[in-house]
Amino acid sequence: MAVATISKRIVLHFPRRMVDRPIVSTLVREYNLDFNILKASVTPDEEGLLVMELTGRRDDYDRGILYLTEAGVHIQDLSQDVTRNEDRCTSCGACVTICPAGAFTLDMRTRKVSFDNEKCIACELCIKACPPRAMELHF
Ligand code: SF4
Ligand code: SF4
Repeated sequence: MAVATISKRIVLHFPRRMVDRPIVSTLVREYNLDFNILKASVTPDEEGLLVMELTGRRDDYDRGILYLTEAGVHIQDLSQDVTRNEDRCTSCGACVTICPAGAFTLDMRTRKVSFDNEKCIACELCIKACPPRAMELHF
C-alpha cells in the first residue's frame, strides 16, 4: 500500500532564544522530512521567521510539527499570498512599522512606500492597518 505523503507551506516563528538552534536539521535527521526554505528573516526585535515547504510521510510530518511546537516554535499555515493594489496605495506609511518581515520601505526622498512581496510572510497585519485597503489577501 502506498504511504501517504503531504507537502505544506508553513511559517515558523522562533522566539529570540531559539534563533541559533538547528531545528531544521533536526526535522530532516529525526523526522525524515524534506524542506525547501522560501524566505528567512529576523525581525527588528530578533524573532526568527522562516517560510518553508515541508514534505514527508503524514505521520512523520505530524511528529515533526509536534516537535517544533513543543520546542516553542509558533507555526502558521501559509496557503495565502498578499499583494498590493498599487492604484489604492497612498504611501501613508501606516504599514511600514507594522510589518514584522520588513516588506515595506519608505523612500525618504520621494516619500513613496514600496512593497516587496518576496519578503512578505502573509501574517495579515497590514490588511486591516492599511487605511485605503490597498493590501489584499489571496488564497
Ligand atoms: S498602509 Fe496602505 S496606503 Fe499606506 S503605505 Fe501601506 S499599503 Fe500604502
Ligand atoms: S502580510 Fe503585510 S504585514 Fe504581514 S508580512 Fe506581509 S506585508 Fe508584512
